[in-house]
Amino acid sequence: MSGTSPRTPLIAANWKMHKTVGEAEAYVAALLPRISGTAAEVVVCPPFTAVGPVVESARGSALRVFAQNVHEAESGAFTGEVSIPMLADVGADGAIVGHSERRQYFGESNESVNRRLLACLAAGLVPIVCVGETLAEREAEATGAVIARQVESALAGARSEQLAGCLIAYEPVWAIGTGRTATPGQAQEVHHAIRRQLVGLASATTAERVRILYGGSVKPENIDALMAEPDIDGALVGGASLDAAAFTRIVQYQ
Ligand code: PEP
Repeated sequence: MSGTSPRTPLIAANWKMHKTVGEAEAYVAALLPRISGTAAEVVVCPPFTAVGPVVESARGSALRVFAQNVHEAESGAFTGEVSIPMLADVGADGAIVGHSERRQYFGESNESVNRRLLACLAAGLVPIVCVGETLAEREAEATGAVIARQVESALAGARSEQLAGCLIAYEPVWAIGTGRTATPGQAQEVHHAIRRQLVGLASATTAERVRILYGGSVKPENIDALMAEPDIDGALVGGASLDAAAFTRIVQYQ
């Protein structure tokens, strides 16, 4: 973060399909005393089964709890899905939308990501909308076009004032779970392009307020350099967030 940025940094843990309720509660008990008073907002995204219990464990603290996905319909015949009212009922504050693993393994498209995002915004649930290019797209020098298309279609129909509360996560697919991180310069270039795109999609004021997180093999060893970039406002952390000590170090980036 630059010293003049109006954006509060945010670090989010995406546990993916890890942790039973007991493991999640133990993690939160270990994390809370370590992160009190940190400058960054801290979010954990447990699997659905642990969202309610983690909300209870985090009660009275600044830790916020998001789901890893959410369906746009309030209810209905959508086996395996979870709705916004269900998440609100257990106290979730937000949800990841359009994670690349949802796009890759579960057929989510730019259109379904947009429907989920608009439903979150309408209901006051904070979305973290994920975008990212594949290795083939980067090697074909299509990164800019791919990200611009994903951002435009994900945010289509959202009002400028709603967009200010959105979180966008730039997560290059080739960096997720691979141990291979985008360099701070590569990430900054894409973050800056997204922020410029937001000026056109919303306004300069909104673009300055939207927090853009980086995700893709973020670790204690690389968080400091990533956070030094002016348009990197935080991180979405998968593998390294599973261990409370490692995640604490990431939250306490220098
Ligand atoms: C993620 O799941 O959003 C992610 C970035 O994973 P990892 O940190 O393991 O690459």
